[in-house]
Amino acid sequence: MASLRLFDTYERRIREFEPLHPDQGVGLYACGPTVYNFAHLGNLRTYLFEDLLRRTLEMAGYRVNHVMNVTDVGHLTSDADTGEDKMEVGARRTGMSAWELAEFYADAFREDLVRLNVKPPSVWCKATDHIRDQIEFIEDLEAKGYTYRTSDGVYFNSRKLNNYGYLARLDVEGLKAGARVDQGERQFVTDFALWKFSAPGESRQMEWDSPWGVGFPGWHIECSAMSARYLGDFFDIHCGGKDHIPIHHTNEIAQTEASRGTRLANFWLHGYFLELGDEKMAKSSGEFLRLETIMERDYHPLVYRYFCLQAHYRSELAFSWEGLTSAQTALQRLYEAAYSWGAPSEVSDDYLARFQGHLYEDLNIPRALAVAWELIRSDEDPAVKKATLLVFDDIFGLDIDQWRPTEVSIPVEVEQLVAAREAARADRQWQRADELREEVRALGYVIEDSREGSVIKPA
Ligand code: AMP
Ligand code: ZN
Repeated sequence: MASLRLFDTYERRIREFEPLHPDQGVGLYACGPTVYNFAHLGNLRTYLFEDLLRRTLEMAGYRVNHVMNVTDVGHLTSDADTGEDKMEVGARRTGMSAWELAEFYADAFREDLVRLNVKPPSVWCKATDHIRDQIEFIEDLEAKGYTYRTSDGVYFNSRKLNNYGYLARLDVEGLKAGARVDQGERQFVTDFALWKFSAPGESRQMEWDSPWGVGFPGWHIECSAMSARYLGDFFDIHCGGKDHIPIHHTNEIAQTEASRGTRLANFWLHGYFLELGDEKMAKSSGEFLRLETIMERDYHPLVYRYFCLQAHYRSELAFSWEGLTSAQTALQRLYEAAYSWGAPSEVSDDYLARFQGHLYEDLNIPRALAVAWELIRSDEDPAVKKATLLVFDDIFGLDIDQWRPTEVSIPVEVEQLVAAREAARADRQWQRADELREEVRALGYVIEDSREGSVIKPA
């Protein structure tokens, strides 16, 4: 097995990756989308990072058991556990039922992943399909004395764990001193909801009976319960966006440590944000950048994938339309070069070793991409270049082998004018031929004469 080193947020250092159960493959849990709206380009950057991680593990020789949840209940609009359920708000916004909403946006999300060549997870799991698991988890926490009740729900008592917040290096005492957050009935600012009661008089679309009363699970408990179900209590790698460190992942860890007495995951990996500057990204703003937005402007979805390959997952990436256009140009050059090389022969060991050297050192994809460009510009044999680049594409996921030059379809009208011009030239009617060439140009096409005949191209 190749040596693979990954940055672990928990220990804040790069560690050598060793699977916990080498015979069972690598357990990888990725926090999935909250399906109350489309994914924005920032969200998709995180899923692209997770796909690169998975492909890297696979290249290093591991079988990956990739689990992704779909949050279709319980994610509140406020991290203080006081807001409304995003699903209920989304249902009001769209006129769909909360159930239809979840299905609609989960499908849209999966379609985005397909367009971006993100490999589908081995397991998709929905929070609403695992209510029983979550109730049992909470019952266990209750039996172990980690919970308390308020008028609106059952809460986790974060002070009972002496290392609560270690992942985020939270200054718990400082938080207490400076607390200006609306704590509601929570006893401490870092306590969080495990089960929320449906408000009296409120009719929620998604609610279930429980030992504590009718209501719904909190957002964090779904990930502890479902990761345990599919990967066991302690598994290899947990990942998500960087914003999950201080609250969501901190609370997942707290629940699992309190209930199971183990750390939740051996490695914690976090993707940094796509930053939009002036472009809107907040889903609440209504208008936001999603994959469809760039497709409407004629960018292929894989251009966005290429754009993301240019930045290390542990650095912020600023979105700009100029940046996207540069990615489009670079990707086009890469496709054209690879296409021109014809059939592949054997892989260059030297280039592959350099590529993997960067990849296995905490997923340094930008450096790996630079190796690909060196290869393209090198004077290696084209068939070797082709074979090597196709192996790189197991990581890049750009469908390099499938690319073909686009055949431009020429309108019949233009073809007729060109044929008339050919006839005029054959008759040595040069002036007539020039007039016809101008007519073709007026329709947006140019005629290039060569020894093989005339070629028509868009102007
Ligand atoms: P959500 O659907 O809001 O739960 O978010 C889905 C994923 O997107 C989470 O892993 C977030 O951490 C991640 N995320 C949210 N905003 C951004 C962003 N601007 N850039 C990268 N990842 C993000
Ligand atoms: Zn999660």
